[in-house]
Amino acid sequence: MPRILLADCEQEISSFNPVSCDYSYFSIKRGEEIYRDRGLNTQMGGALSVFDAEKDVELVPTMSARGPSAGILQKKSWKKISDEMLDRIAKAAKGIDGVYFAMHGAMGAEGELDPEGYLLQEVRKIVGEKIPIVIGLDLHGIMTDRMLKHIDGVTIYHTYPHVDFADTGVRGAKMLLRIIRERLNPVIARVVIPALVRGDELITKSGCYGDILREARRLENEGKAMFAGVMIGNPFTDVPELCSQAIVVAEDGALAEKAALGFAEAFWPNRHRMQGKLIPLDAAIAQAKHMQGPVIFTDAADATSSGATGDSNAILAALMKAKYQGRVLVPIVDPPAAAMAKKAGIGAKITVELGGTLDKRFKPVKVTGTVDMLSAGHMRLETMRAPFEGGDTAVLVSGNYTIVIFSKPAYFFDRAPFLSHGRNPRDYDLIVVKSPHCEYHMFEEWAEKNFNIDAPGATSADIRSLGHTICARPMYPLDPDIGFKPKAVRYNTKRR
Ligand SMILES: [Zn+2]
Repeated sequence: MPRILLADCEQEISSFNPVSCDYSYFSIKRGEEIYRDRGLNTQMGGALSVFDAEKDVELVPTMSARGPSAGILQKKSWKKISDEMLDRIAKAAKGIDGVYFAMHGAMGAEGELDPEGYLLQEVRKIVGEKIPIVIGLDLHGIMTDRMLKHIDGVTIYHTYPHVDFADTGVRGAKMLLRIIRERLNPVIARVVIPALVRGDELITKSGCYGDILREARRLENEGKAMFAGVMIGNPFTDVPELCSQAIVVAEDGALAEKAALGFAEAFWPNRHRMQGKLIPLDAAIAQAKHMQGPVIFTDAADATSSGATGDSNAILAALMKAKYQGRVLVPIVDPPAAAMAKKAGIGAKITVELGGTLDKRFKPVKVTGTVDMLSAGHMRLETMRAPFEGGDTAVLVSGNYTIVIFSKPAYFFDRAPFLSHGRNPRDYDLIVVKSPHCEYHMFEEWAEKNFNIDAPGATSADIRSLGHTICARPMYPLDPDIGFKPKAVRYNTKRR
C-alpha cells in the first residue's frame, strides 16, 4: 500500500515590485484541509483525483501555502512558512513511499532566491535518498540545479493562459505511482536556453510556443517521455538561475537528452518573435481619439497577476493630459483613496491623489469626482471561478472617467473587477485591462482594437526596461547579440 506524502508551496513574485509581501498574503492549509482541493482545477486537486481513485493508496497530507503574485517575500515570513512546512513533513515522513509536492517555481524571498530548491533539499534530507519526490511546476517557474538534484520527476503546465492546473497534477501523480510501483529511475535531461520571452507568441493556442509544447505532448502521448516541455521562466523574477529551459523526463536517458536538445533548438530561433510588441502610449491615445471604439488599453506593465502593484496611473494620467473625451473605465489600487471615499460616503464629491502610493515611479494625479459606489471588494474571477478580495473598494466618477479604486492588489485580467461593481466594460469607449494579455473572449472579441501599451511598470513586456541585476548573463534580449550552443545535462540519481 503506497503511502504518499502531500505538500504544496506556490507563489510567483516580481523583483521589480518595490513592495515586499508577507505571511498575511498566504492562504495556509494544514493536514486534511489540503483535501479541500478535491474537485478544484489546481495541481493538488488533479493529484488527489488520481490518488483517490486508487484503492490501495494512503495519503499523508502535510501543508499547503499559496500566495498571490506580489513583490519579494519578507525574510521572516519565508522562515515562518518554510519552518512549519518542513516540521510538518518531518513529523509525517515515517513509512512513506513517495512525495508529491505542488510548486509554482517563481518564488523569491529575502535571503533565499531559490525557495523551492531549499524546500526540496531539506525534504530530501528528511525522506532520504530512496524515496521518490515528484513535483509540479508552472511553465513560468525557474527550475534550478538544486531542485533538479533532489527530485525524481516533474510535470509542468502545457498551456498559457493556464488551464491545465489539475491536469498537471494528474500527470504528476501518475508519474509518482509509476516510479514507486515499477521501481523506475527516470533520467531528467535539461537544456538551459539563455533567453527571456514575453508577448502574444506565448499564447499556446495561437503562438509559436504552443507548437513546441504540442510536440512535447506528442512525446508524452506516444509513451516515449514521462514528461516533456519547455519552461520560459518568469522574466520578472530576477534570480541567479532565471532562464528558459527544455526539460524531458524519460526512462531512456539518451532519448531524454536528444528530445531536450531538439526543443531548445526549436525554441531559440523564435526568441525574437517571442517578445512583447508594444505601442507608445501617446500614439495609442492619438489613434483612439479617432476611433469608434470600444478600444482596450492592455497595461501588462502593471499586471497584479504577474506581481505588479496595480497602482500605476500612467495610462489614466496620459488620457487626462491628452483630454481624451470618450467614456473611460479604469481599475487602480490605491488604499488611501479608497479609504477617503469610504469615509466621505456615497454621493460625496472628493478630490484624491490617485496612483503611486505603492510604486513610487508613478507620480500621483489629482482627480475630483463623485463617490458612486462603495463595496467590501469581494469578487469572483470569471476565468478560474476563484474568490478574490479587492479590499475596501470605491467607484469614483469624474466626468468621462469611471475609476474603480481597490485597496488590495486583486487580479485585473478579467471583467470581475468591473462586473462586481456594476460596470459593464461594453458600456465604455476605452477600457484599461491590467493583464499580461487581453483575454480575447472577454474584451477583444467585441472591441475595435486592443492596444498593448508601452507603459512603465514592474511587469513590463519590454524585458530590457525592467533592470535585471541578478540573473546570469549573457541573456537574450538583455544581451541581444549572443550565440547559443545547446548543451544537455542529465540528472539521474539511481536511487532505487
Ligand atoms: Zn504562469
